[in-house]
Amino acid sequence: MSAALLPDPISVTVRAPAKINIYLGVGKVRPDGFHPLETVYQAVSLYDDVTVTDAEEWSVSTIADGVHVEVREVPDDDSNIAIRAGKALVAHHRLDDRAAAIQINKGIPVAGGMAGGSADAAATLVALDRLWSLGTADEELLAIGAELGSDVPFALVGGTATGTGRGEVVTPVEDNGSWWWVVVFSDDGLSTPSVYGAYDLLEGGDHDYRIRPQMLEALRAPANGEHLQVFLYNDLEDAAFYLRPDLQAVAEAALECQASYALLSGSGPTMLALAADADSARAIAGRLAERGYDRTAVVHGPVAGAHVVAYG
Ligand code: ATP
Repeated sequence: MSAALLPDPISVTVRAPAKINIYLGVGKVRPDGFHPLETVYQAVSLYDDVTVTDAEEWSVSTIADGVHVEVREVPDDDSNIAIRAGKALVAHHRLDDRAAAIQINKGIPVAGGMAGGSADAAATLVALDRLWSLGTADEELLAIGAELGSDVPFALVGGTATGTGRGEVVTPVEDNGSWWWVVVFSDDGLSTPSVYGAYDLLEGGDHDYRIRPQMLEALRAPANGEHLQVFLYNDLEDAAFYLRPDLQAVAEAALECQASYALLSGSGPTMLALAADADSARAIAGRLAERGYDRTAVVHGPVAGAHVVAYG
């Protein structure tokens, strides 16, 4: 049936994934305060679902299925990035009388370095575009997303991709692997600016931070290049470990629990442990729990970017 014959939906639900950075190279801070980045993103199987319905006024509410998610930390006013995304889309189309009620079902931990807010922004853009049949071109959604935050374009695209600029210039890469990770959450937050501040003092970014082509080859042909762990890297790790020595202990514990490699996710405090397969990932999570690291999730990637899961 042609889409034109379908009635307009009353609600639209879009699912958007968490991201991890399997490579994060950070350059010298620019005059505008941003650090140039070269990163390899991977979308992994932790999700936020965002449902939008037409409304007189903007509103947002958040519930959580995820056991590690603390919804009290998510703003319920106009500072929520989902509302900012909705308003940006409305402004782009000059539809100033439109507003929506946004409900977020959060599976991505808040302030965990997994870009949950960015996922909500991406999901809201796609959901409102479909709710109001706006037909926004992909490039326009990416540009609106980039204005909202560096990680929003990747949440739209998903899969595995390189990110340059501030991370907002996203280029998909061929990834034929199915990578299993144990994500280890932290009870305490770690502010992104403080990590970059420590990085400026400790390292400064005066080095070659480019992605090595061999890493992209290891993703494209995992049977030949099964040593992806050789290329896993995060320039912010020393700074994060300096501020939070307990995170280094997590990395050491993960290796002792048979992870192939362990690294900081983004600017932390979440840590990642690479496993050989799903069973190993579950076994590593079990061993970590015996050592007291029981706030973990077993995830795989790559998975799809923001996509519609229900029309109401
Ligand atoms: P990143 O990896 O992009 O730095 P993060 O995953 O560490 O992000 P988020 O969960 O995206 O962190 O949120 C960071 C802060 O943004 C939260 O502490 C919260 O105050 C605010 N925020 C605004 N909107 C949202 C939202 N929809 N979901 C979560 N946090 C939000």
